Amino acid sequence: MSADMAMEPDSVVLTAHPLQRVGAFALASLAGMAGPGELRGDVFQSAVDAMTRDLLATTTAARASDPAGFWLSASYLLWPNSKLNPTARGKQSPPERESLIKEWRSRPAPADWLRAPCAYCGRGACGWYGKVDIPLGASVAHRNTTARGQDGTPLCYACVACLWAFPYGASLSGGRAAVIHSWDDELLAALTRDAVERTKRDAVAGAAMAGKPGPYARELWVMSAVRAYSGLRVRAGLELLVLSNSNKEQLLATQELSQPVAQWLRTTVRDSDRRAGYPVLLAAQASRQVPGEAFLAKRLFARPAQVMDFAVGHLMDRVSETGLVPPETLKLAPLVNSYCIEVLTMDDKDVERVKELARRLAALLGRDSRPGPFRDFIRANSRGGNLHGWFRSKGVDWLLFPRPEGTAPVLLPVAEYRLLFEDDRSWSWRRLLVFAVLEALAEAGWEPKGSREELDEIKDLAGAAGSDREEEGER
Ligand SMILES: [Zn+2]
Repeated sequence: MSADMAMEPDSVVLTAHPLQRVGAFALASLAGMAGPGELRGDVFQSAVDAMTRDLLATTTAARASDPAGFWLSASYLLWPNSKLNPTARGKQSPPERESLIKEWRSRPAPADWLRAPCAYCGRGACGWYGKVDIPLGASVAHRNTTARGQDGTPLCYACVACLWAFPYGASLSGGRAAVIHSWDDELLAALTRDAVERTKRDAVAGAAMAGKPGPYARELWVMSAVRAYSGLRVRAGLELLVLSNSNKEQLLATQELSQPVAQWLRTTVRDSDRRAGYPVLLAAQASRQVPGEAFLAKRLFARPAQVMDFAVGHLMDRVSETGLVPPETLKLAPLVNSYCIEVLTMDDKDVERVKELARRLAALLGRDSRPGPFRDFIRANSRGGNLHGWFRSKGVDWLLFPRPEGTAPVLLPVAEYRLLFEDDRSWSWRRLLVFAVLEALAEAGWEPKGSREELDEIKDLAGAAGSDREEEGER
């Protein structure tokens, strides 16, 4: 602890605790300041007073559902058993409620401060704090620091004020608080600022906790926030914390959106080719019940590799509907190719190998307009298909038939063979291969021409291949 920090107990400092950090940025927004560094003295106090005023507005509300009841409604989730919502609240007059709230939020007199350091920042603590002020998400990290027989966790007033402030930076819905945290301060500042604006609007509208959120609404919130972020770089991943401190449910769930995913999402806005393909990517992720945007967000958190599976599966479905090479393949290409390298961290030299291979295959399949070879390739990539056997027979074709100029005589060299059949991620490599073949055929403007029966056969096969994706029984 430095000397001037000790001199300034009323200044906010950032600590290693995510909710305290979110709260610090939320408090800065409430004060109209750019960052927590400016929260000191009167500026700090005015931000705390603004929060207290919001709570005092609830004293005239009879019920949490009343227009002035936003923070009363939220208090059951955030601050159960606090002086805002005592059991006897119904019998209290507004002035009685007011004095209890003021008592709760006021700063202890220096004479009453502890001779203990704040558990978050190490400066002198002003009191012991427990479950009312420290939600589960903030207490987990130092659960063991509360010694037996003590009254809670020692905190300084600045840190406890940050904990009071974090809900302004949260999304409050469905009886839970969702919070976005990142170690990238610039990103956290921007996202928290937007969240605070939204919370303030909701509070004025009295739109407290209304309704059950849609599918993956919180993941979608994070994804949309990252896409809307105007910073040039995302320097750290994002954590989504969903918590409840209520008496009915004690919950803390955390999920991570990795830095590469976040950075890639930014490029789907900034890069015009990727932006143009984005609606196709969304359509590829949708199911009958869940919009593509929500499913994309969910998969980017939980299983990023599935985004590719569904993109390729979608194209297979389109082949099944039309019997043709889907024209949207070319729109998807900048997204799929960048996703493989930037998010799935597939080695770019290996990606180039698979794309080279795909060009050889497309030359072979598109040599004439017969749909048969295309059909066989689709079959080899569908469930139960024998891609290995298909390559064996095509390797011979490749040797015997005239090859495009400058191409190697070996169709499937050892390195490519290993990627497709021996690599830990051979499934992803095979999906990339299917995609790259469709891309190469689309680039060449190739279309199968055949009898209706032959095209119909492609449709049936591609349908089976498209549904090859792992179905998720998730919601
Ligand atoms: Zn502190």
